[in-house]
Amino acid sequence: MSSESSLRADIVEVGRRMYARGYTASNDGNISVRLGADRLLMTPKSVCKGFMTPDMMCITDLDGRKLQGDRDPSSEMLMHLEVYRHRPDAQAVVHAHPPTATGFAVAGIPLDRAVLAEVLTTLGSIPIAEYATPSTKELPEAVRKYIKAHDGMLLANHGALTVGSDLFGAYYKMETIEHFAKISLVARMLGRENLLSREEVMRLQELRGSYGIKAPAPICATTEEDPSCQVVQAPAGAGARLVPDSSPSLAQRLQASSGGTPANASPEAGEIRLTYAELSALIEDAVRNLR
Ligand SMILES: [Zn+2]
Repeated sequence: MSSESSLRADIVEVGRRMYARGYTASNDGNISVRLGADRLLMTPKSVCKGFMTPDMMCITDLDGRKLQGDRDPSSEMLMHLEVYRHRPDAQAVVHAHPPTATGFAVAGIPLDRAVLAEVLTTLGSIPIAEYATPSTKELPEAVRKYIKAHDGMLLANHGALTVGSDLFGAYYKMETIEHFAKISLVARMLGRENLLSREEVMRLQELRGSYGIKAPAPICATTEEDPSCQVVQAPAGAGARLVPDSSPSLAQRLQASSGGTPANASPEAGEIRLTYAELSALIEDAVRNLR
């Protein structure tokens, strides 16, 4: 295990990177790491993560009692304690509000599609924990549902949470979630996503050992009845590694909802006119299909 002084310096560095990348604003976010079997080193409450110094950190026990430090521990300490309680393998916990991933959390859209190999091998499906008031004991209760099976999750209308076998591992998972959210957003704006087939996902799962990744069942292929695990969306490929997303495009849904060629379409001008009610219905339909 790393020395306390190097872990303090690592927390400062991770906080600096999170703030520099815009994953946190103002005093948002919090970071913790195990110091031993029964002690945690944690960021204090009410400090900007971009400007911390090693002496600011608090040491607590696993029940949240402060053992050392001039400042009080993070206001989200209860969420961190809950993670360590359920994940003896977790050495570090990172919480931030990266904007694109948090946008998915606000929209209620989990990052659960099999799209990128790197995401599947490190995180698998990324679920959304139910909304809970920040800093209350509701938040650990919401996180509890998924933390046993997932190393990363979105927090509804709040942000994201990651765990790792060391501090930088947890932080890199936060980077991966935000990067994946950006790529997913671009693909959906472009109107098309090809998904990795289920066969390809299983192949990647088998390769995880050779990547040195041992996190518990991130794609949850055999535990569909387990409510603590969100299954990754990967269609059967019939030999193909990539499968076009079969959910209908907005244009197809527009056509269908208008009963074939829309009566109020003007094909020459490439223009379709909709009433406000028709447009609202289409948007609702599109959002439902994204989920
Ligand atoms: Zn937060």
